[in-house]
Amino acid sequence: MISLSTKVEEVPKIGITYAKRLKKFGIKTVQDLLFYFPARYDDFSEIISIKEAKQRLGEVVCVQGQITEIESKHTFKNFVNLTQVVVRDDTGEINVIWFNQPYLAKYLKEDDFICLAGKISLGKSGVYFNSPAYERINEIGENEELTHTGRIVPVYSETKGITSRWLRYVIKPLLYRFSEQIQETLPKDIIKKYKFLPIQEAVWQLHFPDSFEHADAAKSRFSFEELFLIQLNVLKEKIKLMIKKAHACPMDADLMKNFTDSLPFQLTDSQKKCAFAILKDLEKTVPMSRLLEGDVGSGKTVVAAMAALNVVKCLPAQAGGHQVAFMAPTEILAKQHFKSVSEMLKNFNVKIGMLTGKDARIFDPSSPGSSGPAAEAFGVSKKSFLGDLENGQIDIAIGTHSLIQKGVEFKDLALVILDEQHRFGVEQRDHLIKNKKLVPHLLSMTATPIPRTLALTAYGDLDLSLIDEMPANRKKTKTIIVEPAQRKEAYTFIEKEVKEGKGVFVIFPKIESNASKLKEIIEKNGPISGSFVPQNYPSASLRTGNLSLSQLAINEVKALKEEYEKLSKEVFPDLRITMLHGKMKSPEKERIMLDFKKGEIDILLSTSVVEVGVDVPRATIMMIEGAERFGLSQLHQFRGRVGRSDMQSYCFLFTTDPSMLNRKRLKALVESNNGFELAEKDLEIRGPGSLYGTQQWGIPDMAMQGLSNIFLVEKTRAAAKEILEKDPELKNYPELKERLKQFQTKIHFE
Ligand code: ADP
Ligand code: MG
Repeated sequence: MISLSTKVEEVPKIGITYAKRLKKFGIKTVQDLLFYFPARYDDFSEIISIKEAKQRLGEVVCVQGQITEIESKHTFKNFVNLTQVVVRDDTGEINVIWFNQPYLAKYLKEDDFICLAGKISLGKSGVYFNSPAYERINEIGENEELTHTGRIVPVYSETKGITSRWLRYVIKPLLYRFSEQIQETLPKDIIKKYKFLPIQEAVWQLHFPDSFEHADAAKSRFSFEELFLIQLNVLKEKIKLMIKKAHACPMDADLMKNFTDSLPFQLTDSQKKCAFAILKDLEKTVPMSRLLEGDVGSGKTVVAAMAALNVVKCLPAQAGGHQVAFMAPTEILAKQHFKSVSEMLKNFNVKIGMLTGKDARIFDPSSPGSSGPAAEAFGVSKKSFLGDLENGQIDIAIGTHSLIQKGVEFKDLALVILDEQHRFGVEQRDHLIKNKKLVPHLLSMTATPIPRTLALTAYGDLDLSLIDEMPANRKKTKTIIVEPAQRKEAYTFIEKEVKEGKGVFVIFPKIESNASKLKEIIEKNGPISGSFVPQNYPSASLRTGNLSLSQLAINEVKALKEEYEKLSKEVFPDLRITMLHGKMKSPEKERIMLDFKKGEIDILLSTSVVEVGVDVPRATIMMIEGAERFGLSQLHQFRGRVGRSDMQSYCFLFTTDPSMLNRKRLKALVESNNGFELAEKDLEIRGPGSLYGTQQWGIPDMAMQGLSNIFLVEKTRAAAKEILEKDPELKNYPELKERLKQFQTKIHFE
């Protein structure tokens, strides 16, 4: 007996071979297959007469008729099989041609009625249908049971050996048999409130819609459902934390004032507001979960340092004091934070440690002869560092992931600060609090400007603070779109700036899109030979030879090398140019970054992998090749690497594709300096697929589509909140609970 949970290989029409192919889409059961939704639709719903069809040259049309002739032959010259059919209705007749589908001659017979949908072409012997979609019907005028023609036809993402036609052929009968048995997931009152289609109906309408309105209605139902499940997931986490206890750290207003007075600059209003929100959170016994978002250079580190200072000082001295862990994604950034935080806190008697994979350092301003952080920090053995951490000698520990590895114990950890680490998840937080009665507060920081809808979804369990203004001393970076004809002029300008001691970043688009295209080609057709020229970028030709997949990565580097050769030999023969790419080991990358920072390198050429947040104040030019290939948010991030001093900085956008859409996007970058605005704009212009770093969110398709719609996201959030407030364990919603469980294995916000 087949049921919704039957494995697809046991379904007669599918079998083992197809089941294997379906696995590529994650389809294992009949239910999975029914939830494999089309990517788009072909509209073949208007059926017209043959006479009219013949007048619509070049258009895609649908007709019904009777076969009067059929012939199948090999044209030996071209080794192709040709199936030719003549179809007639009351108004006339038309030729139909298919190539290389010899089985058609067996499937179709003279006098059969047939429905055809496809393009009307003009050939030597007149107007004909060129390889249309087809299906046999019982009589002209039939439109009830059509699957591949004469209706809105679903088109699915395909893979080798799985066509849309085949999917329609297996899915439709399964829908007839099983759609009624699909369990409703959404609570009844939600369906009623939003007038959603019931799940059984929605699944039908997504595959075989009666109209585009119905397809949209079905889609919005599933968008809602997926977003709702995501919200339930994050809000459940939030609730789980809210019942935990954290150290309450009263705000020491005098200390905070002393600290801000000691800075060589004034905090922006935004920084003050954010710091206040954080300090208020820290006063509570409920653990803080806050995300501090602010463009690169907006000054998040100072805000974090304030919070850290307040936490380590909030206990009376004899009580020992709380500790703070401050984690950065890379060693360079950890070192940078260690240096700047030590500098900021040098007069506050705070012991600061740094731990990375290889290095352990301590800055102790109370030790005699202290003359400043850079001179003062001394290296210690890892063992002694860990000892100090465990007995509470170190107040603030700054480092990489090393800080949460096995064997690292804090005496009294009260606050964890995360810089640019989307991947720090519940699990790691659990690791930090295991065996502890108290949960540390969490402050997460990011410069990745994401639209509100995504923030509410991916970071839905965090409260949000925005630093939305830049320090006043900054000059706005001038952004300029450089046409191919102006390239020389831009180069001359760059050379002049370098002569004045300024640094230049050149970002070269990672050949990723082409590599993945190549990968696709190779997977389909086997190794290819010859030379592959990435579209729009002739100088980056990849000579593919007989490429295997593993070799592709190497060729990315090769393309970068070619660019490097060009820049260093032809364009800037007198300047010191160095490459940086993702295949390099960390120490090498760090050394190069430091050389660049020190001014020993003039131009740093890299793919898009350059670490976020690295501070090189002397860099004033960001030159981006193939700018149209990047999303606005990413371009904005690149731009944020310059303009970090009081010198005027420039961002040059080199483009090779002057299409209007790209023009509009790049112009948005010229006009706006606000990362959040740009992220929203990108979402508006290019749709959710364009969201920067989408893969890392692991958000499923339908939910992704829903992210364009703030109202939808807010609705799902409100609905999830309402239900969890009444029934946190979802006891009254067994189907929803089960679905959520399945769903959690699918999504992973790590
Ligand atoms: P990000 O938000 O990118 O982490 P940082 O915290 O690294 O930014 O700050 C960038 C630079 O700006 C640092 O050198 C910092 O000292 C400086 N800075 C921070 N706040 C201000 C301010 N209000 N006025 C002037 N400079 C500031
Ligand atoms: Mg930073």
